[in-house]
Amino acid sequence: MKVFFLLSLAGSCLGIAGIIAWAVRIKSIFTRPFVKLSCFTVFVIVMYALTLCPFIKSVGLLTAGLYFAGLDWLLFLFFNYIFFFIQDTRYLKPSRFFKKFYIAVSAADTFSLILNAFLQHAFTITPVFDSKSVFYCWQYHFGFLYRCHLVYCYLIIIHLIFFLVVRSRLSSSFYRMKYAKILFSFVFLVLLNGIFILFKWDLDVSLLVYVFMDIGVFILTFFSIPHHIERGMRISVAQQTESCFVCYDFNGGILYMNDKARKVLKDRADIRDKISEYQKQFILSYGTASHYYTWQYEFENHGNLEIYNFDFNVITDKKGSIIGSYLHFSDMTEEINTIRIQQYNATHDHLTGLCNRQTFFEKAHEILIENPVQHYLLIATDIENFKLINDLFGWETGNEILIQQSLLLCGTDCPGCVTGKISGDKFAILIKKDDFDPECAVERCRKIKLNQKDVDYKIKTYLGVYEIKNHYENVQNMFDKAVLAIRKIHGDYEQTVVYYDDSFMDELVHAQNILNEFSLAIENEEFQVYLQAQFDKESRLRGCEALTRWNHPQRGLLSPSDFVAPLEESGLIYRLDSFIWEKAAQILEQWKKDGIDWYISVNISPKDFYYIDVIARFRNLLAVYDFDPSKLNVEITESFIMNRDGLEMEVIKGLKALGLCIELDDFGSGYSSLKTLEDFDFDVMKLDMEFLSECDDGPKAKSIVLSIIRMAKAMGIRIVTEGVEYREQFDYLCEAGVDLFQGYYFSSPLCVEDFRKKYAGL
Ligand code: C2E
Ligand code: CA
Ligand code: CA
Repeated sequence: MKVFFLLSLAGSCLGIAGIIAWAVRIKSIFTRPFVKLSCFTVFVIVMYALTLCPFIKSVGLLTAGLYFAGLDWLLFLFFNYIFFFIQDTRYLKPSRFFKKFYIAVSAADTFSLILNAFLQHAFTITPVFDSKSVFYCWQYHFGFLYRCHLVYCYLIIIHLIFFLVVRSRLSSSFYRMKYAKILFSFVFLVLLNGIFILFKWDLDVSLLVYVFMDIGVFILTFFSIPHHIERGMRISVAQQTESCFVCYDFNGGILYMNDKARKVLKDRADIRDKISEYQKQFILSYGTASHYYTWQYEFENHGNLEIYNFDFNVITDKKGSIIGSYLHFSDMTEEINTIRIQQYNATHDHLTGLCNRQTFFEKAHEILIENPVQHYLLIATDIENFKLINDLFGWETGNEILIQQSLLLCGTDCPGCVTGKISGDKFAILIKKDDFDPECAVERCRKIKLNQKDVDYKIKTYLGVYEIKNHYENVQNMFDKAVLAIRKIHGDYEQTVVYYDDSFMDELVHAQNILNEFSLAIENEEFQVYLQAQFDKESRLRGCEALTRWNHPQRGLLSPSDFVAPLEESGLIYRLDSFIWEKAAQILEQWKKDGIDWYISVNISPKDFYYIDVIARFRNLLAVYDFDPSKLNVEITESFIMNRDGLEMEVIKGLKALGLCIELDDFGSGYSSLKTLEDFDFDVMKLDMEFLSECDDGPKAKSIVLSIIRMAKAMGIRIVTEGVEYREQFDYLCEAGVDLFQGYYFSSPLCVEDFRKKYAGL
């Protein structure tokens, strides 16, 4: 019997060794605690087996003592193992106190039981012999201290049973199954152990119970509960992921967190607090519509902004009832910043940081739709000759101007207002009508300067203002209208702000029609020269100015105010001017043949100089037609002098060299002074009656005009006044010293035939 029992113990040990090897192969998180538990089981079995082998009382006492002490530790390990196995510390935590208590008592008991080999205070042994008087086993005689040991063992058992009962009662059905299985297995083993003890067999057969226990634990841990394998796998997946992972039970108690989460939460109280705040909100949402919540929060960490994403998910059982939740959170700073930068770049202008075209239109539209009763203005800005700034000073300087412009616009950035860079040098602002102060805007525009080599160049900015009547109108249209308004004042240095008017659109359509029809009209010779006579003080005809008329087949006779501006804007004016100059040359040739001594003044648009070589054109006319160059006067406007960069002097010299007479048209309408007249060596100064009328106001103004006339004359410059309508004007101007007169008082412009008939009688 004894041999059989010993063999079965040896077999058990081998079996447990096999199980250990198996568990090691499985490589689960339970492997380590399970191996510990199994090794102790083997230790207990070996100790008991040793008590049976040698017939030496002291060895028997020592091994029996170690066997009993081993039971203490085995139960303690089992206790710990169950906690680890369940990994649910929601209701009953194995407090440090219990752990320490069990370790202390087990250590004391172990000490006492080892000491028992010498003192025999806990138990003593007497040998039992079989029928052949061979040592069979020991009989135990227990003292008080051994009973204490027994009580202690049962205390651990009761504690464990109590824990398992309470735990399985409180938990959801999902967990209950798990705890019930462990509980029943455990109770079964305890009962089996009790039965073996009751039978009071000489050999401690109850030892086999520990073997069963070990096998049971092995099966329960690694095979019986697939959830745990699955969970183990999930946990190792959770460990390996880059993000932080925390599992909660139903009430929000932490069941598990991966190392990464532990690391982050350990030093970051701010993140911990935020999570518990979010978690409370999430738990409150249980049973409501969403089983998934996601939050994003920006933390400040040592001056750096960190953005974290928090995703809370509910975990449900098969029936769909909630058994817990998990949180998945990660530091998204880099990703979000990259996305933000990409978004910013896609929606903003790189140079100025203002909204780009698309974004401006979208934002403006949103604001308008959201504020249907608020009055808004859409303002477009344009920089005069920006292309020229770029060409002359380079892109970098151009960019500097654009940045200045954008700062100017940001300055107008009041709440509910949006600014954007629409294209090249064109910006746009959507602003509440009440927030826009035109005077202040003009003042700001004046501040934009270009400093080159210590010289400040003023940059002219125009503001086109479109008052929004219909908030649903396409914002691009609004912008186009504001830009259209700017076209109205382009080149006018006095004006900065212009309000869009519906007539602008009609004019635009009209201008477009002019341009469409122009080429054919030139080919068909629809343009005609009209001549307006110029007289001297004695009312003798001296010459005339050539003025264009368009004999339009449908619209009748059109005056230059109908078509000169669009032609100048588009640059096509040079074709018309060249045509008129040639006509004037032909007339002069004819007059020369006829012995007529009059001169003709022709107009030159400042734009002509951009498109053609004006001097070459006149040289060519002189080569082709036979007329005296001093009979051809050219009228140049002040804007030509103001716009050019040093070349105007060369141009005027070139024209003079051809023998032409050079006139400064519309003197006084711009910035030109007597100094200009002198510098550029003009032959004639043309004063507009309108300018003179403006000076009619008082004796002081009058004396200024008189002194200008006097000084011009002193410089040898002849003076022509145009727009003379009344006799009084003529008398006054005669007295003032004006040489030549042109105006309705004498004659309106006439076609060439009428002019000849009227003045030459031919
Ligand atoms: P401008 O060179 O100052 O021409 C004088 C304008 O005054 C002419 O208008 C003439 O008809 C008008 N006028 C003449 N006498 C009087 C008067 O007593 N009272 C008033 N209020 N006006 C008078 P028009 O012919 O309509 O020409 C207007 C402008 O068109 C011209 O102003 C000139 O700048 C431009 N223009 C005319 N023909 C040509 C051309 O062939 N080429 C270019 N580039 N411009 C031209
Ligand atoms: Ca003129
Ligand atoms: Ca004029």
